[in-house]
Amino acid sequence: MRIILTIIISLFAFSGYAQQTTVTNVRYWTSPTNIRVVIDLTGEVSYQVKESAAPPEIIITIENTQSNKQELLVNNTTIRQISVSQEKAAPLTNENTSCIKIGLTKKTSFNMFQLKKYQDKPVRLVIDINIPDVKKALPVSKKEIERIKQRAKIVVIDAGHGGEDPGAIGPSGLQEKDVVLSIARKLADYFNQKQNVRAFLTRDGDYFIPLGERVKLCQQYEGDMFISIHANASYKESARGSSVYVLSTEGASNKAAQLLAHRENMADLIGGIARVDNDTVAGILMDLSQTYTINESIGLAKFTLDNIVSYCHTVFIGVERAGFAVLKSIDVPSVLVETAFISNSKEEKLLATDEFQELMAKAIYEATLKYLGISSSVVSLRSPSRYKYHVVKDGETLWSISAMYDKSAQEIKKFNADIPPSEVIFVGQTLIIP
Ligand SMILES: [Zn+2]
Repeated sequence: MRIILTIIISLFAFSGYAQQTTVTNVRYWTSPTNIRVVIDLTGEVSYQVKESAAPPEIIITIENTQSNKQELLVNNTTIRQISVSQEKAAPLTNENTSCIKIGLTKKTSFNMFQLKKYQDKPVRLVIDINIPDVKKALPVSKKEIERIKQRAKIVVIDAGHGGEDPGAIGPSGLQEKDVVLSIARKLADYFNQKQNVRAFLTRDGDYFIPLGERVKLCQQYEGDMFISIHANASYKESARGSSVYVLSTEGASNKAAQLLAHRENMADLIGGIARVDNDTVAGILMDLSQTYTINESIGLAKFTLDNIVSYCHTVFIGVERAGFAVLKSIDVPSVLVETAFISNSKEEKLLATDEFQELMAKAIYEATLKYLGISSSVVSLRSPSRYKYHVVKDGETLWSISAMYDKSAQEIKKFNADIPPSEVIFVGQTLIIP
């Protein structure tokens, strides 16, 4: 009886506690166009937002929620500080109300939404505050882009994840978003040393960009090529190596590729967008030009993976295909590079080093130049479609294909590192014919 009573009391106490939501953390991320303030909560809440003019403030009142007093000094051009406080409990309901004040330097527009709990991310309130007087997201004007295009190819480099979305996390805590940004910056530096190539980054800081936005940035920069940089992860600690992915319109090339695409496509849910817009990313209708782009991408992917393996000495996993949202609706050659496994402690250590990041950037850089037909030293511009692609059909061998194109098997092997020493090729495999 006593036991039952204790259980009843503790259940009662627990349910009373569970009703009261708690503000557990407040943080912010800065992008070139907005500041994202994120409030972590232990459950979903009702809230009200008010704006005050003097001093300019955004005031968020969260009902039935407790919090510890907190003050976050920000002091940037948009936000002065963020303060969290708890109002006295209402006498009748005994409910606490939390109040979050975001002190602004100047009145500005903002967008607020609540995100449901997702994986290890708690319920979050997100306030995207637009930086006043910033209209364009691009660091260059349309005119400048046109001028650059006269003399150079434009490569758009996309560091995966960022901000609220850390990507995969290594056993000692290394975050994918940090490593890939570092590699992306090094890669951009390589390109920008050259006269006839200009690189732009989709993000140059620790903030989140929705997948659809990354695609849009590539289009706005009028990119001739799109390279998305990531680090792989697996539940198997022993998994290691490098792979390069191209978009597939007919499903993934294998189960692992499908799982990986699924994980990378979840970025919007982790990073947080107000509304997942299926029209911009997932529901794109594929047409023939996409097939052409995929073939072109396979060429770029093969060069890239060959170079990575020979420079970085990682294990060659292969050029794979899967439905990556970030590669969809990009009509220029585009690849997603899974540099190495951050979940493997050896590769995590490598990924953290400046030397490895530098080699990775150099490998991707040189592969891209080779693909574009630009030598590392000589300035020349040629169309990327200098190569033919052959999809292996039933009954064909490397020898029959080399005879068909009047090339030696050795020549073809040089451009297709995924042909094993046994020279066994499989139906559906795409080969670059030099
Ligand atoms: Zn990733």
